[in-house]
Amino acid sequence: MSTLLPILYILLTLFSLAATWFSIRYAWWSKALDYKHPRILMYHMVSDPKSGTQFNGLRVSPAMFEQQLHWLKQNNWHFVTMNQLIDNPSKLPEKTVALTFDDGYEDNYTQAFPLMKKYGACGTLYLVINRHDNDWSTKKKAHHNSGELVQEPKLSDEQVNEMVTSGVFEIGGHTTNHVNLNTIDKQTKHEEMSESKAILEKQLSVPVNSFAYPFGIYGPEDPAIAEALGYTNAVLAEGGIETDLENNRFEIRRVKISGKDNFLAFKIRLQTGKRGWKK
Ligand SMILES: [Zn+2]
Repeated sequence: MSTLLPILYILLTLFSLAATWFSIRYAWWSKALDYKHPRILMYHMVSDPKSGTQFNGLRVSPAMFEQQLHWLKQNNWHFVTMNQLIDNPSKLPEKTVALTFDDGYEDNYTQAFPLMKKYGACGTLYLVINRHDNDWSTKKKAHHNSGELVQEPKLSDEQVNEMVTSGVFEIGGHTTNHVNLNTIDKQTKHEEMSESKAILEKQLSVPVNSFAYPFGIYGPEDPAIAEALGYTNAVLAEGGIETDLENNRFEIRRVKISGKDNFLAFKIRLQTGKRGWKK
């Protein structure tokens, strides 16, 4: 008995530590934000994680992506593109979700596209024009110079064309070179944002209305530039669930879907916009 008691105390302490960690990590007590607010989800790659790499947060595995689509469909979520979403934000049905994909990784065609067709989903692809041999990761932080993202295969023009003509994907702008808008002058910003729009419109014969700030980085004048160039909406890289789409069409927050999250974290992000207490 005398030896059992300390062990019991240790076990109890360990259990409460684990419960506290779980609570802080997932903030499971947070209430779901009203489902009249659409959820705009941000993806990059749909591929399995690679060991010893830096950007696995950007890689959602195909199995996890399918589980997410299956759950969204089962739970009566209504898929829209950003263009459809911004068309009439006040008339959206409850549980509207927009899947968005940044940059133009080839797995969006090989992995995401067939799964989206299977589940009747649609989404918006923010495509960089000069996406091959362009190591943009260093434009955000100089130490991101591992060369990891530049080696990831990117979509070909033919693949993009098939994705868009299928009706599954809307195409959106993401600048010509995936620039950091905070490090270039106004003239270059105009060129990057308008040239990419014109190229995509010509190539795909569709209007390009939606824009995503590369890295989610933008300056105070950039929302007005995007609007002046003819975009109708622009998304940020993070921030959670957007609650004022009517008045906030050029600084729309998105829910980050991380490859490092498990399925519970995904469901919590859909409810609250964040996985846990802070993130
Ligand atoms: Zn990007």
